[in-house]
Amino acid sequence: MTDTDTVIDLATPETATPFIEVRGLTKRFGEVLANSDVAFDVRSGEVHALLGENGAGKSTLMKLLYGVYHADEGEILVQGEPVTISSPAVARDLGIGMVFQDLRLVPAFTVAENISIALADQGFVYRRGAVEAQISAAASEMGFDVDPGALVRHLAIGERQRVEILKVLMAGARMVILDEPTSVLAPQEVDALFAAISELRAKGLAIVIITHKLHEARAIADRVTVLRGGRIVARGIDPTTIDDRELIGHMVGREVPALPAERPAPGQSPDPVLRVAGITVGGDGGHTAVRDVHLDIAPGELVGVAGVSGNGQRELFEAVLGLRSLGGGTITIDGTPVRKADPRIAIAVGGVGIPEDPLAHSVVPGLNVLEHMVLADLGSVRKGVGIDWDRARDQLAQLDERTQLRIAASHREVASLSGGNVQRVILTRTLGDVDARLVLAAYPSRGLDIATTRRTQELLLERRASGAAVLLISEDLDELLELSDRIAVLHAGELAGIVRPGEVDRYEIGRLMLGGNE
Ligand code: ADP
Ligand code: MG
Repeated sequence: MTDTDTVIDLATPETATPFIEVRGLTKRFGEVLANSDVAFDVRSGEVHALLGENGAGKSTLMKLLYGVYHADEGEILVQGEPVTISSPAVARDLGIGMVFQDLRLVPAFTVAENISIALADQGFVYRRGAVEAQISAAASEMGFDVDPGALVRHLAIGERQRVEILKVLMAGARMVILDEPTSVLAPQEVDALFAAISELRAKGLAIVIITHKLHEARAIADRVTVLRGGRIVARGIDPTTIDDRELIGHMVGREVPALPAERPAPGQSPDPVLRVAGITVGGDGGHTAVRDVHLDIAPGELVGVAGVSGNGQRELFEAVLGLRSLGGGTITIDGTPVRKADPRIAIAVGGVGIPEDPLAHSVVPGLNVLEHMVLADLGSVRKGVGIDWDRARDQLAQLDERTQLRIAASHREVASLSGGNVQRVILTRTLGDVDARLVLAAYPSRGLDIATTRRTQELLLERRASGAAVLLISEDLDELLELSDRIAVLHAGELAGIVRPGEVDRYEIGRLMLGGNE
């Protein structure tokens, strides 16, 4: 497929006026053409999924509808009438509501206070009893279990999201936009959200849900639209008429190969590469972030770590790499104990790590791509007291060739690269290391495009095949189920269980993620 392919358009049997329709919408941010000549519509009583890779322009398009941004060109019609949506308040007056990707509630306030603040511009005056009663009524109409007097900081993510939805409904929304609402939810919570969305659809609301998970779009959407590079590449398709391969093709612009189905069995060595024995690790706030965790990984085995973010994943990762000291228990890598917080120990025995936030943890300001490669592997390019730069350049070329992650030119300063390009440098350096004994990868594909994500997953399997023990932390259950030999589930810093893909379904994993109470 190329950019010049004709747009698929099975849209709107023109029986009714859509709730909202846009034509020729274009939005630039400086040089970036975030939306280009976009035409799109959403009907009342439908769920419309907006698909696309990171940076495709999905959030921008929705923010144009919600009055956060203003289009450079094009028009917006609400119920057939041209409108100018100059601010979110105007959008709300027109019946348009939006639940943002990063939820926007004040943690120290109660549910009722948060909703009152949000509705203040609609002449909503805070009288506690009345507001709480209204919230309770709205919640029970939706089948939500929400306590209006609860402090938001005591609510789980899924509950906060329900508060956001209530807030939007109480503002009188006729259309609800949800920007990647499922990315932080366990499968059970996704089901609850989808039940709520179905309820809204049944009430005749127009709903847009942004996602990049195809199975979610299939589960909930009546129609799907795909954006790529700011342009619509497929509009208003009935998702039952198109397969995943074709949809991904639209999102990426070319075919993405499937992962190899045949894999060697993991090593059965009695000596694991990584042995985590009853460790306890403190978190940044002085609390116990990891408690009595046991986990062994054999050579050639890939163990995934699942959990709602903030349940000890980061601290586990940092403890194994020697970035955080142990409060108790032991860690050994190939028999070598990691006793103190000193990352040189793990590196010396062949450990490599992809940190959760590479910009903060792996980038040295002022150093270029080549210098970063050398930093990771000084030993092999040392020449007397200096560095053999020719050799380093050769090695970088080899890594680049092997990983095929298309890193930036070697003279580019890493700190000046975009997040995705920094990640490629880190991935090339770590996953290209054929001698690695232990690969620790925390959210390695976060922020990457689909094709690079797939290549990264292949590389994790390649390191597994070359005999490394691989620990993969991910918030994408599909990815974990596809890649892992075993999945360890963390909840509140404890190991809630270790399961094998194929022997459990995603709900069982979700149940463990939620502490076994769902
Ligand atoms: P998506 O939601 O599909 O991931 P976005 O709509 O957030 O994509 O972004 C589309 C493009 O516009 C990206 O290249 C992004 O970097 C750019 N962009 C988005 N918001 C802004 C902004 N406020 N300022 C500058 N560039 C932006
Ligand atoms: Mg977005």
